[in-house]
Formats: sequence, structure tokens, C-alpha cells
Amino acid sequence: MRGLVACALVIVIGIAPIVVSGQGPVTWDAKFRAITDAKRIGEYMKRLSARPHHVGSAYDKDNAEWMLERFKEWGWDAQIESYDVLFTTPKERLLEMIAPAPFKATLEEPALAVDPTSGQKSEQLPTYNVYSVDGDVTAPLVYVNYGRPADYEVLDRHGVSVKGAIVIVRYGGAFRGIKPKVAAEHGAIGCLIYSDPRDDGYFVDDVFPKGPMRNRDGVQRGSVMDLSTAAGDPLTPGVAATADAKRLAIQDSPTLTKIPTLPISYGDAQPLLAALAGPMAPEDWRGALPIPYHIGPGPARVHLKVTFNWDLKPVYNVIARISGSTFPDEWIVRGNHHDAWVNGAQDPVSGMAPELEEARALGELRRQRWRPKRTIVYAAWDGEETGLLGSTEWAEHHATELREKVVTYINSDGNGRGFLNAGGSHALEQFINGVARDVEDPDTNLSVWKRLQAARIARGSAEQRAELRSRADLRIEALGSGSDYSAFLQHLGVPTLSLGFGGLDEDGIYHSIYDDFDYFTKFLDSDFRYGRALAQTTGTAVIRLSDADLLPFEFTNLADTVQTYIKELQALLKQRQDDIKERNRQVEDGIFAAVADSRRPTRPPQIETVPPALNFAPLENATTALSRAAERYKKVLDAARPRLAEQSAVVRAVNARLIRSEQQLVDAAGLPRRPWYRHLLYAPGYYTGYMVKTVPGVREAIEEKQYAEAEAEVLRVASALDRETALIEAVTSDLETLTK
Ligand SMILES: [Zn+2]
Repeated sequence: MRGLVACALVIVIGIAPIVVSGQGPVTWDAKFRAITDAKRIGEYMKRLSARPHHVGSAYDKDNAEWMLERFKEWGWDAQIESYDVLFTTPKERLLEMIAPAPFKATLEEPALAVDPTSGQKSEQLPTYNVYSVDGDVTAPLVYVNYGRPADYEVLDRHGVSVKGAIVIVRYGGAFRGIKPKVAAEHGAIGCLIYSDPRDDGYFVDDVFPKGPMRNRDGVQRGSVMDLSTAAGDPLTPGVAATADAKRLAIQDSPTLTKIPTLPISYGDAQPLLAALAGPMAPEDWRGALPIPYHIGPGPARVHLKVTFNWDLKPVYNVIARISGSTFPDEWIVRGNHHDAWVNGAQDPVSGMAPELEEARALGELRRQRWRPKRTIVYAAWDGEETGLLGSTEWAEHHATELREKVVTYINSDGNGRGFLNAGGSHALEQFINGVARDVEDPDTNLSVWKRLQAARIARGSAEQRAELRSRADLRIEALGSGSDYSAFLQHLGVPTLSLGFGGLDEDGIYHSIYDDFDYFTKFLDSDFRYGRALAQTTGTAVIRLSDADLLPFEFTNLADTVQTYIKELQALLKQRQDDIKERNRQVEDGIFAAVADSRRPTRPPQIETVPPALNFAPLENATTALSRAAERYKKVLDAARPRLAEQSAVVRAVNARLIRSEQQLVDAAGLPRRPWYRHLLYAPGYYTGYMVKTVPGVREAIEEKQYAEAEAEVLRVASALDRETALIEAVTSDLETLTK
């Protein structure tokens, strides 16, 4: 499409098409998709991942400045906004076994000759977990599987306590910050986190450099902040980390670990695990190392010493703008982070590079006289890896303005080959389905929508297949945490989407020195065609959100989704009642004693109170009302659509309400135990980290056996849904004036 002259037929509603001389109408977003170029995405990746670029490094700043220049060159109004955040780096790291046999862990990922940037040793951060506290501990070792609360219940049944012990836990199953948190709650004094080859090593495929999986020395760095309590700088929860911000004393931060924590490779973990005795680990706890997995405690005794530099470091967010021509105070914000643990070609550059290509192509559209109606803000966040710092501090800093103005925040964080993965606010579900129908999958030439539907049919249950073949829209995922959308969606209540492709490749280089350009072009999206597909999907969404006269929010899918959440809550309660009843009966009938093995003693479970019936009626009634209001809005909107063009005052009034629709689902008091999280429908689990809990207040109260709290939370969610219903009814009557 490039080079053709567009003439000026503009239709006011929906996606404004333009007419290219001698051809049918071509929309600006179709022109945009044609401009995007995979080769350039590769060039940006090569540049951004050329050297290690973690927070506080020279190349992190250099990248920010380079992107700033690109945005300016492409016609954006751009600047760097910076904050001063706590960023710990290791001073001392020591891990040794002192009994039954001496062993000293290497704690080192070796440079490989075939991998050119793996040798940039002087700029690489050592292997460590940021936001671990300092500590020097010596204690017996206990293996605790993934380190989730349920794993400790199993330990208990085996009569094993971690009190005063150092735990060794494998990566996976929950966000890594959960592992030291739960271990400390159970009395452990140190925590080692290792990558088991079953999860991302040779159990899956050949290891690097022969194959894509983690080798025996590969280590997953990463943040062990308690992200489910609050995101952002550990010293300034809830407020921006500006130069003059009031900072907590380090020991008062609620999100640092309570015990020293260190990540290790399976090469370093194997001798420690092999030196454990005690009961055999249950079958689903066993990894793929060629050893019997015992739980301990001991006889392995280990000495762990870690100390850190407790420095404030700057994070550099690059913020670029194009002002809207018609609705300048309504913003579309789009972001990906640019900081990495090391070179970070996959995480984050495979998402950052497509975002840059979007910015270039949007600049090119403007040169062709496209004028977005809404303001577009493109952000390259810093400090995501350590705890979503750059995006969170920016969102906290500009909270009032963002709540008022942001129509949608669109996030990505890395990208791969395969199927579209979309998550976010369900009021945007229909909208993003429409976008996905118009983007071509590079491998199959189907739409990315069609390919995703096929993938879900291929692996779905009978019930899921029936729905996939009949429901108009594919469901999008609910968002937990673990990327930069958290502050927008869960703290501010801004409508949010998170997009990416993946599902075809397994990789074992996450947060290691081997996540670099060489690896990415060998094993992942080698020719950046899915990088281009991500740019096309996200850019199309940005253009449509920016140019739609009436904001494309739709509430029947939201209501339908909330219905499924309520059914899940009811099923959860029923399951727990049934399980506890059955277990109590087995205890009373002496079943546990009758099958016990006297050589391998386990403790029978305790008799427990059966959970009471809970009154979900307020939630059911609120959801019924929401469904009805959503259906009516849909009908009235369809009838009013032809008249919208000449009714800009009504459109503005309706938009002014719609822009607040997500905020109705937010409660300023926040969730129990963690007031920073305010969205009542989506949050990371308190004990799972980034994995989502839907209707988290109610769900976690049931899981934690706080039934009075569960009923209070039911009422709180019901009144949020009532507020949403009232808003939808108000916009419906605004529109009704047009049809009378
Ligand atoms: Zn990332």
C-alpha cells in the first residue's frame, strides 16, 4: 500500500476508511499493517540486546537514550521520565555444603565460545535474586517441591518441619517471590531456588548450545519481591519514587524477603539434593535429576551467605506522545519494558522491538496525513524485571491524570511464535476479537483469530469445543501480575489489554546470560515474522481505539465472564465441603490407620470443620442485573449507531462515562491483606504471585477458611457490579435520546 495517495473520504463512526485512488476503501490500520517490517524489528533487537542492560547499567541508559532519539526521529514528542528506586546488587554470594561431604557451589554461568555475547562478563550481573535480605545462615536442608502452601501440608503429613532449616525449592508452580515468603512463614531461615531439568532442562529437549533448554550451569535470575502485596519500588509503596519522596527504612519495606535467598543451577543443586535422606518425596515432587529425591531434613547441612549493595538507582522510562486531534484528553497508552536481566533478546526485547516498529509505522502514517483522534502515548518502561518498577512509579506519579484520561493500556512483554495470547479487561474482549480477525498469521495465512480458535479446538474438552464453535468471540484471559499492566489495571482501574504470540517453542534461557540475539535468531522467532504480527495486532488496536468515535466497550462478554466466575466460586466451596467431609469420614472410620505403612509413617490428617453454606445470592442478583443492562445497551447502541455521526455532544457524554467503566470494579480500600491491589475481579494470588485469582477477595477468603470475610467480600463485589450496571444504564439512556 505504500506510495499510493490517499484521498480524503472520512466516515466519522468506527474505523475511518480512506479511499485509495482506483481501489476500494483501505483503512488506516490496513495501511499501518503493510508498513510494518520484520527486518527492522531484527535490527532493533540487535541494537537493544547487544550488551547487558539491567537497571543501573550504562547500556540501560544508553538504550533509553537511543529509543528517545528514534521516537523523535519518527515525529513523536518524547522525553525520559526517571525515578530513583531501590536496586540491590550482590556483594558476597557463598553457598557450600559442610556435611555429609564438602561441596562448594560455582554460582556461575560460563561463557560459551559459540555464543558471542555470553562472554561480556564485566557487564553481567551475577546470578542472584534481587530484594533478598542479607544473611549468613548454616542449617540442615529440606526439599519442599515448588514451595507452595500445599507443599508444606504434605511435609507436615510426613512429620517434617522446616523450622530453623534452609529449604531447597524448585522454580515453577508459583511466582518465585512466593517461595521465600511461604518458607519464612513456616520458620525456614534460608531459601535456595533451583531450575530442575524436568521443568526447563533436558527432560524437555536438548540443552543449550545444542538445543534450546537450560544447561546444567544455567541460572534463572529474578526478583523475589512479594509482588502479591504491592508492585513497584520496595521503599515507596503506593507513591512515586521521585527524588524528594518519603522513603521507608529498608527494614520496614513490606515487599523484601524475610530470609536470605539465592537461585542456583541444577549443576549446583544436584550434590545438595543427592545428600538428603529422610522420606522419599511424593512422585509429583520428583524432578528429572538422576537421583532419588528425598525430603530430608539433612543430613545435608549447608552454609548460605549473601550480602548486597543497598543502593538507589535511576530507572529511565521513555515516554512518547502524539496528541489527539479530536479527543486530546483521552489517551491510549501502550508499553513494554526495555530493561533485562542480562542481554534479554527474548525478555523483553522481542516485545520492545515490535513496539518500536509500531512507533515508526504510526509516524509514517502521520506523514501520510493520518491524524489520530485520541492522544497516543508509547512507553518503554525500565525496571520491570525487579518488580514492575518503572511502570508502577509512573502510574503512581500520574495517578489522577491517568484515571481520568486513559481509555486503554496495552501491554506486551516478549514475544514468540505461534498463537495469539490476549488477556485483560473483558469489556474489551469483543474489541480485541475484531482486531484479531483482521491480522494475518504469518505461517498459515489464516487470521490470527482463526488460528487461535483452531489451537483451542485441537486441545479443548468436548464442552470447550462446543463453545469455541458457537460463541462469537474467543475468551480472553484474566490478568494476574508479572508484567507492567499491574499498576494500570489493578491499582488504577484502567481498562487493559496484554498481547503476545507464543505456544510453539519451549525455551530454557529465561533470565540467563544465554537469552541473547544469537540464541533468539537460532531457536525462536528467527526471522521476526511473529514480531511483525505482534506489531500489527497491537498497532491495529491502538489505531482503532484512537479513531473510534464511540469507545468500543461491550459489556455482555463481561457479564458472561462474571457469571462463569460465580459458578467457579460455588464449585470451589462445594469441592472443599465434599473433600473435608470425606476426609473427616476416613479419619473417623480409621481408614488412614488401616492403610498406614509402619515402616514409612505418616500423620493422619486432623478432623476439620466443614465449610458453612455461603450466600452467593447478592452476587447472582448483581450479575443478572449486569447481564440485562449489557444486553439493553447493545440493542440501543445498534439502533442509535446511524445517528451518532451528527451527535458529537452525545458521543462525548457517553465516552465520558464509558472511560470510567473499569473503575466501577475497583474499590479504593483494596483487597484484604494488600490494599495496593484494588480491582475486585482480577489480582495475582496472595500465594501464587503472578497467576491470576479471579474475584480474589471471595476466592482467597474461601481458600483461607475465612468465611465471614468471604460473605463480606461477596457484598463488596456485588456492589461494584451494581455500580457497573448503573453506569451502563446511564449510557443507555444517553443513547436512547437519539432513537426517540
Ligand atoms: Zn519481561
